[in-house]
Amino acid sequence: MSADMSDPDTALVAALLRHLDPDDVLTTPGDVEPYRSDATGLRAARPPAAVAVPRSVEQVRAVARVASAHRVPLVARGAGTGLSGGATAPADGIVLSTEALCGIRIDPDDQVAVVGPGAITDHVDVAAREHGLMYAPDPASSQTSTIGGNIATNAGGLRCVKYGVTRESVLALDVVLADGTLLRTGHRSVKGVTGYDLVGLIVGSEGTLGIVVGATLRLLPAPTVVRTLVVSVPSLPDAGRAVGVVTGSGVRPSTVELLNRATLENIDTHSGTDFVARHGGGLVLVRTDGPGADAEIAVLADALSAAGLPAQVLDDAEGERYYELRRTGRGRRDHMWSVGEDVAVPRSALVPVLEAIEEIGRRFDVEVSAVAHAGDGNLHPGLSVLRRPGESVPPARLGEAADALVRAALAHGGTLSGEHGVGSAKRPWLEDELGSEQLALQRAIKALLDPAGILAPDGFLARDDAGPAGHAGRRRSVRS
Ligand SMILES: Cc1cc2nc3c(=O)[nH]c(=O)nc-3n(C[C@H](O)[C@H](O)[C@H](O)COP(=O)(O)OP(=O)(O)OC[C@H]3O[C@@H](n4cnc5c(N)ncnc54)[C@H](O)[C@@H]3O)c2cc1C
Repeated sequence: MSADMSDPDTALVAALLRHLDPDDVLTTPGDVEPYRSDATGLRAARPPAAVAVPRSVEQVRAVARVASAHRVPLVARGAGTGLSGGATAPADGIVLSTEALCGIRIDPDDQVAVVGPGAITDHVDVAAREHGLMYAPDPASSQTSTIGGNIATNAGGLRCVKYGVTRESVLALDVVLADGTLLRTGHRSVKGVTGYDLVGLIVGSEGTLGIVVGATLRLLPAPTVVRTLVVSVPSLPDAGRAVGVVTGSGVRPSTVELLNRATLENIDTHSGTDFVARHGGGLVLVRTDGPGADAEIAVLADALSAAGLPAQVLDDAEGERYYELRRTGRGRRDHMWSVGEDVAVPRSALVPVLEAIEEIGRRFDVEVSAVAHAGDGNLHPGLSVLRRPGESVPPARLGEAADALVRAALAHGGTLSGEHGVGSAKRPWLEDELGSEQLALQRAIKALLDPAGILAPDGFLARDDAGPAGHAGRRRSVRS
């Protein structure tokens, strides 16, 4: 690092340098820049004072103590793939990057992985598969996202409809609190009910309660057979009906994904496929896995046919290709202003909410693309309008359409975030869902663990509704 001694943050940086190697304390604008935002592009008005890259749990504790002593904000950061602004660097504060804490140890006897927070999600799964096991949660970002980020956001993914979201795979956590205390909570055994479930409290807390420095993760036997079918659907509501047939069939599929026409067009453009020609208005992708995969896919194909929705069972290579294109086949559209949404609704509300999304698109004159982890009611509608030359902020109707969409989900018994978290981007709707009493209780819990409020102070529990870069309509990522 190169400390400018005239910098007002010098005392803070000097304190960090008492505990970390100079190469692990980044302060120059060029070094700090890659850590300023997550995948939303939201940025604070000023850069952080420093990015700390600790190489041990003791160093994480030291960074927390320095932040506490100097009363500066501290934001933990994994890979920065978050879609809620949670990892946005705090102005004049410290970003704590977990990139160097990435150890992975597999214990096949206990069927657990003991990992550092910076371990890449896919690397954990790959290491588990060497022992015939798998790490089940598979966010579409799993090639780059970290376990710490997954835990902090309680990430979901394509397989979560069968295996549950990240929370279901976390047995124990090591957490550094704001004052540097190291908390070890949870258990290595599969079962365990001693005391309050602090693991459950930390999972999904978006870095506001503590910094995850270690995790014991549940592994499962890796399925050796995976089968895939696709159903072409003319419209979003038809896709919702196909999903209803699948979830009502008595079979528990491992993946139920929905892609509408605009999403197929995006994949065709960016991946050179011919999905629109093949599937027209959209498709539903369904997978089964495990010893019963063949019989289960046959049951699903029959149920869909009986409902007038002919399904095509794919061979292994084609099934894998569709699955990967769903995960990584889309590209950015930088000529558009876009808001990537993430709401979840009860399965029974899927069709009415899909109809509401189409109506919102027409009402606000915005383009609607949609992907969804539809089997668990988690929808990712993308709302877009053309970006006119010279325009520096998106037209108001984009934010209004996003607002209408979140409110439609809430009105149908849903939630404002299925998996991306609230962060600063979704904060304006938080009280609408939680209510003032629950919000006050959640703030009281944070105050107990972080009395000085240094951890993620601009996060989902912040009191102003502007967020570090303001309006939700500035979010430009349409992924999941
Ligand atoms: C292409 C794409 C596809 C995606 N698909 C999915 C998907 O299918 N499912 C899904 O759930 N999400 C998805 N996401 C969103 C994102 O990948 C997840 O939220 C992921 O869990 C973030 O991990 P990360 O390591 O990038 O965390 P970051 O973005 O670095 O941080 C996310 C949040 O976690 C906090 N945090 C990070 N590490 C720690 C730690 N060690 N201790 C405490 N707090 C911490 C940060 O402060 C921040 O609040 C997708 C994103 C992209 C760009």
